Amino acid sequence: MADITSNQMNSILSMNYRGLEDMPTSLMSSHSAADVQHLYMKGNRLTGVPETIYKFENLTVLYLQSNRIESLPQTIGALKTLELLDVSFNYLEKLPEEIGCLQKLKRLYAFSNRLKQLPKSVGALQNLEVLGVMKNEISSLPAEIGRLVNLKELNVDSNHLTSLPNQLCCLGHLQELSASNNNLLTLPQDFGMMKTLVNIFVDNNPFLNSLPLSLKSRTNEVKIGLNRCGIKEPPEHPVRAHQHVKIRWKNYKTIIILPKQISQIMCLMSTDMLASPLQLSVWKRDPSRDCDEISVTLCHDAEFMSRVPSLLELTLRTFHHVLLIRDKSDHGVTLPQNIEELVHCPTAHCCQCNEVLFVSAFPFICQDNFSPQKPDAVFHFLGLCCTEQCKKRGYDVPMHQIKY
Ligand SMILES: [Zn+2]
Repeated sequence: MADITSNQMNSILSMNYRGLEDMPTSLMSSHSAADVQHLYMKGNRLTGVPETIYKFENLTVLYLQSNRIESLPQTIGALKTLELLDVSFNYLEKLPEEIGCLQKLKRLYAFSNRLKQLPKSVGALQNLEVLGVMKNEISSLPAEIGRLVNLKELNVDSNHLTSLPNQLCCLGHLQELSASNNNLLTLPQDFGMMKTLVNIFVDNNPFLNSLPLSLKSRTNEVKIGLNRCGIKEPPEHPVRAHQHVKIRWKNYKTIIILPKQISQIMCLMSTDMLASPLQLSVWKRDPSRDCDEISVTLCHDAEFMSRVPSLLELTLRTFHHVLLIRDKSDHGVTLPQNIEELVHCPTAHCCQCNEVLFVSAFPFICQDNFSPQKPDAVFHFLGLCCTEQCKKRGYDVPMHQIKY
């Protein structure tokens, strides 16, 4: 009833999709069991594996997926030459400790079972390269997993994990880790130190709201799947908070005049936010309260490397412009006399755009050779700009050359 295909290297026993309810005992008792190297029993109705499985003493590949197997016998540990074991799509609630005896095992697949945990003995599988236990009920991984020195791929998708053991960081050959669809709260802090790790998939871990710093610095080298996580900032664009502004609104009318830069930022809500180095990252409004508070965080994307003036500076500049046009239209702005005098008298002007400056500016060293007496001499002087953008413009535009 079995097809045994032999060639010089492998004896393959294929009994896939035969509707078998038991592994035929005749196979185990025959002398040929020791000759079988690949045993395929996929898609049958096996509810268990006989203890006599050990008679396949030269087995290298064992496919048992898509059966109804509820447990594996301890004797499976006797298959010392086994390199691939696939017990996926069964009813296993645990793997026997003896699995750790499979010293030649390179690939272990046990996805879509009912595993609650992995035996600590998996750490003894010194040759294991791929471990796939997705779609189980595993709530924690044993620390011993950190001893799988040859592991390259680990897939623990769709389990009940809230954390991954720090010992994973000891896996010096791990290239891909997939832990999507779990309840991860954190990732091991030293994850980014694993130089071989290039793919990390932690999508759909809704409580995962930060990445370890060690990983943030390697986002160029590591591909990270983070869809539907709690992480607000995409790791490839680290955002640094620059200023935090609380603005009070009453009945949806502003009771302060916003500096124009801030108004512009708010307008960006409906336009292309990436067009500006400034980004509005927090926007909270409590409609149940008469007096709403809006929390605005001015951020700048590290890519743009630009800064904005302080809020005090922006406010003073805004009031300066408002006072200049007050006679033409009534803005109803009333300021204390001393403040009004202050905003009428800027301390300087931007050397690029002529914007008024009060208490903050972006200084830079100008160089020019403006002296007709010493045309080859370079003179340095201090320039002031209203914003970092203006300052950069100063560098881009060639200095005015005086002609004689
Ligand atoms: Zn300027």
